[in-house]
Amino acid sequence: MLQQTQVKTVIPYFKNFTKRFKTLSSLSKCKEEEILKLWEGLGYYRRARNLLLCSKILVNDYNSKLPDTLEGIKKLPGIGEYTGNALLGLIFNKPTIAVDGNVKRVFSRILNKEQSKINFYKLIAKNKERLFRTNRNADLVEALMEFGALVCKPKKPNCYTCCLKKNCKYFKSHNKISKEKKTMRKTKDYDIFCYVNRKRQIALTKKNQISFLKNFNLPEIKASNSLPCYQNWKFLKNYKNSISNLNLNINLYYKFSKRIPATYSWFSLDNNKEFVPSFTKKILRQVSTLF
Ligand code: SF4
Repeated sequence: MLQQTQVKTVIPYFKNFTKRFKTLSSLSKCKEEEILKLWEGLGYYRRARNLLLCSKILVNDYNSKLPDTLEGIKKLPGIGEYTGNALLGLIFNKPTIAVDGNVKRVFSRILNKEQSKINFYKLIAKNKERLFRTNRNADLVEALMEFGALVCKPKKPNCYTCCLKKNCKYFKSHNKISKEKKTMRKTKDYDIFCYVNRKRQIALTKKNQISFLKNFNLPEIKASNSLPCYQNWKFLKNYKNSISNLNLNINLYYKFSKRIPATYSWFSLDNNKEFVPSFTKKILRQVSTLF
């Protein structure tokens, strides 16, 4: 839940989630719709789907035990190098470090070397004798992340009170490395087409081909055509939305209709028991202004 999401946002979701699923087995038996409903508003729904898949695999194939090697753990859906190392360190106290943005910044400053010029896993392997001198590896994983977030902060690092300043090349150097440039978010243009009826309902389908919204309830969505010719569709409005690492520029069209294509179902504009992602909820709010 914490990937790309702030702690204060996650807390109520985490509490609800752990109240509902007290064991791995209860999670593995849940339907995808239910887990998505509990996740509603947190975004990045692939995390919820992967978590559910992981629980099923662990219960069915691993006797409900997490593998304790990086190779084994990375076979689970959604677990890559970072999450794998975090789990091995935090759960099994293995000598490893989860290299997130905070950790990269700390190492890069201590060496006063740009992040793009460092192979972090090689660096860790080379210095393992020094890094893993105690057996408190779980604490080391957590401490390094917190150190980057609270002391060696992105904008104003607390160098004068920092316990590492004697060994920090960034602190000592007159030629300090410059700040990492943020990667630019891509902007994409989309047209969205909404069938609406007089009962304040909108037609949604899961048959969309847009990769970041696959298998979610949405109206029809298409990459914008530079020469749009949308007969019978009325333009409602243009608005911006962001999702994952994309900025979306959206043109919203609508049509009142009693008939809808076979793969669509009617959903209320106001209240739905079924899971509807935040992206779609924003569309529902815009369409509500028609009434
Ligand atoms: S001295 Fe400053 S730059 Fe170096 S590790 Fe500490 S906080 Fe970071």
